[in-house]
Amino acid sequence: MNYQNCTLCPRRCGVDRSKGELGYCRCPDTALVAKTMLHHWEEPALALSGGSGAIFFGGCTLGCSYCQNRTISRAPEGTPANSRQLRQMMEQLIAQGAENIDLVTPTQFLPTIIPALSKPLPVPVVYNCGGYELAENVRAMAGLVDIWLPDMKYADDNLAFQLSGVKNYFDMACSAIRQMVRQTGAVRWQGEKVVRGVIIRHLILPGQVENSLKVLDWIGQTFAPGEVLVSLMRQYTPMPGMPAPFDRPITEEEYESVLSWMYLNDLEGFTQEDTSASNDYIPQF
Ligand code: SF4
Repeated sequence: MNYQNCTLCPRRCGVDRSKGELGYCRCPDTALVAKTMLHHWEEPALALSGGSGAIFFGGCTLGCSYCQNRTISRAPEGTPANSRQLRQMMEQLIAQGAENIDLVTPTQFLPTIIPALSKPLPVPVVYNCGGYELAENVRAMAGLVDIWLPDMKYADDNLAFQLSGVKNYFDMACSAIRQMVRQTGAVRWQGEKVVRGVIIRHLILPGQVENSLKVLDWIGQTFAPGEVLVSLMRQYTPMPGMPAPFDRPITEEEYESVLSWMYLNDLEGFTQEDTSASNDYIPQF
């Protein structure tokens, strides 16, 4: 993987970022770190008491109009960091008590991140991404990631295009997530803590219950019970200017419909409190 002919994500822009050319994500050829923190709002089996050691990267390969981190994802923001500096950030977070190293939206900077992970860390490495990944790049990271934490945002490609500007989301996410599970095997627990495996996040969108049910159907039909975990998120927070029906939080009825489908599909995982749909849960960058 390199920045010279950038095919780090399925957009395959082919630009030479080392010469200052910009692709869809508009990111340079050095990692941009927007924030590091002990993150206590991740899934309980990840955050535990110490918190996830989150490294938030600037930029994104998707363009979700409802993105909660838009201040760092749209115009890529952050402090430039090379592989050695990234490694130091990881070690500092671990020294502060981080339960894991949680790489948040990392894909656009893989050539900088991979060398930082070449020496094993004493805590699990979590790859926290939007699900829009190339399976071959996931394969290239075998042995470097312990816990994959991808979104599965859409089974409906029209919705994916409307909200995230991407035409092939579902196919790409399905292949990538299958590859992630091939690499880690079934979820492995140590007491209350997940130490290996795949946790698939799904954010319920207002007026889009059908999309959510199709996502859960795919997960239920593809993996054995308990092989992956599902993290069902109800925290959709409308950003200013979103058109209807995306200008409101999800309703209790929408949440209950999706939640019961999750149980009907025998899917194990995590759910969220209804107080999570609030700007209070958006990290300040
Ligand atoms: S990482 Fe950025 S430049 Fe590279 S293919 Fe993806 S969107 Fe394009």
